[in-house]
Amino acid sequence: MNVLIVHAHNEPQSFNTALKDTAVTELERGGHEVKVSDLYAMNWNPVASGADFGSRANPDYLVYALEQRHNYEAGTIADDIREEIEKVRWCDLLILNFPIYWFSEPAILKGWIDRVMISGVFYGGKRIYDRGGMRGKRAMVTFTLGGREHMFGPDAIHGEIESMLRPLLQGTLAYCGFDLLPPFVGYHVPYISPEGRAQILADYRQRLNTVERLQPLRFSSMDDFDDRLMPKREAQVL
Ligand SMILES: Cc1cc2nc3c(=O)[nH]c(=O)nc-3n(C[C@H](O)[C@H](O)[C@H](O)COP(=O)(O)OP(=O)(O)OC[C@H]3O[C@@H](n4cnc5c(N)ncnc54)[C@H](O)[C@@H]3O)c2cc1C
Repeated sequence: MNVLIVHAHNEPQSFNTALKDTAVTELERGGHEVKVSDLYAMNWNPVASGADFGSRANPDYLVYALEQRHNYEAGTIADDIREEIEKVRWCDLLILNFPIYWFSEPAILKGWIDRVMISGVFYGGKRIYDRGGMRGKRAMVTFTLGGREHMFGPDAIHGEIESMLRPLLQGTLAYCGFDLLPPFVGYHVPYISPEGRAQILADYRQRLNTVERLQPLRFSSMDDFDDRLMPKREAQVL
């Protein structure tokens, strides 16, 4: 399996970096080929702008998604974006590795998504969910947070952890057609004992050894929706 890890932490000695390094070691030990995009080390530019395009389908008015499509096809999209797109196309498993910032991913990773997951390649028209551009590939998010495990769940103070990350899990990865594995979560990481953190790394090694067998989460299937994306059953009742 080809694996791309997109790593977003600003401290090379961080626990997140230990998770990333654990994944590289464990996956390579299992015979997989691994590439890492270390966004802070790459000084990744997260800002989606007209500077990403070497030519313009419409020079008078920037429609970012339309120019993504045009410039990728024309070979004029910025080199840093093209290189990341080719890495994602190469991989069978995409891992996003990051600390939670404000119930979400850090801005540098959000900017990677905005610039790399382009219209035309990752999604487009009705090429979404199980017809998305990335169908056949797996994805997993690995993240840490300050919060404790009991703060997440159906009746917990912050609600379900998958709801917290719905824009990333559903609105981005599942939307683009990835088979999305359950997230791997390191709770309360800055406040637990070194042994507690060692246990998280051990649990992660186990998880990495199951990524090829794990059952993906369930999201909408395009087969259940009509041409207007109305639920087929409901459309019949109307
Ligand atoms: C802007 C911002 C917003 C945030 N928003 C939220 C939020 O919405 N919800 C929330 O819950 N949290 C939030 N946090 C907290 C944040 O998610 C956590 O601080 C972060 O996930 C901890 O992970 P880390 O990799 O940065 O840990 P680090 O601080 O890097 O590491 C924690 C400890 O692990 C040690 N360590 C490093 N390597 C190893 C190793 N190999 N083995 C054992 N120990 C090791 C380090 O020395 C350190 O003592 C926010 C933080 C910021 C800065």
